[in-house]
Amino acid sequence: MISIHIDKVKNVQETFKAEITDQRKSAYNKLLLIDPTIFSIAEQTYLQSVIHLFNDASFLLKTPSEIESIKNNIGGLPPISIYTNGRPEKKQLTHYIQEALGYTQLRKTFYPKYFRNIGIKTCVYCNSQLTIVISKSKTEIDARLEVDHHYSKSDFPFFSISLFNLFPCCSSCNKRKSSTPVNFKLYTEDASKLKKSDYDFKITKTSKCNFLLTKDTEKIEIIFNDLSVLPIGNKSLQSAFNVIEIHNTQKDIIAELIIKSQVYNESFKRILQNNFSKLSLSQSDFDRVIVGNYTEEKDIHKRPFSKMTMDIAKQLGLTKQKK
Ligand SMILES: [Zn+2]
Repeated sequence: MISIHIDKVKNVQETFKAEITDQRKSAYNKLLLIDPTIFSIAEQTYLQSVIHLFNDASFLLKTPSEIESIKNNIGGLPPISIYTNGRPEKKQLTHYIQEALGYTQLRKTFYPKYFRNIGIKTCVYCNSQLTIVISKSKTEIDARLEVDHHYSKSDFPFFSISLFNLFPCCSSCNKRKSSTPVNFKLYTEDASKLKKSDYDFKITKTSKCNFLLTKDTEKIEIIFNDLSVLPIGNKSLQSAFNVIEIHNTQKDIIAELIIKSQVYNESFKRILQNNFSKLSLSQSDFDRVIVGNYTEEKDIHKRPFSKMTMDIAKQLGLTKQKK
């Protein structure tokens, strides 16, 4: 629900430089092992272009705009070869390329720590669930990162481990996202996108009063605003993932915030801050303790429902509006 500047991501990539280099080299060597003779001439040419891409030492670090231009140059996969039985072979070129790149393995070994370092632990689309899924085999249980590929791995298999093509998300958003592009760019080069999210949550004033009178959480009405400009052909976060419907199931979080806004008035907060000055809490730490979640936009991706919580806490005067 908020973009991250690519410079911040590049700093993290720098700390994992050796591992990222190994990923690219391993992919390149495995691509060379694919037997091209089982494919049509068009597919062989396509495979050669992909191998050529992986010969570039910085290929996995290409920025979103570079990825866009490579995608336009290479284009989609050529038509699938038809084999002796008259049907497309079950294992197609895209599967060979995906396997060579080793994306599945990286989901459990590399991506969890890489994205934790960037500060992403929740779904970047709905902000309501974690990005980890548990996978169980006969011998082991592991936690893998759920990742949406901005350019899908079936259509553009060569981007399946390109770091700026990866959007961590929850498994339900990943299942729901169809091929229609969603109007949200996780990585940006535009510094103005970092100050404020394009999305915000509010509650209606009458619903706050109704809740205080009745203590019925169902009286709370949540409004989700998408302030971004929607390009033609793109879906909004709401239409792609039903953000409001998800958040409507968690109105008890808002009920607590409304009660807290009555209890923690300015004078009580001042008394608390003075009484516990030895803890040396920053204003942000103090707000976080009161609200029970992160309260700054830069931390949105760290915990479920942080965006709704921080917006409504500000609306209720529980935390200060940041300019
Ligand atoms: Zn989600």
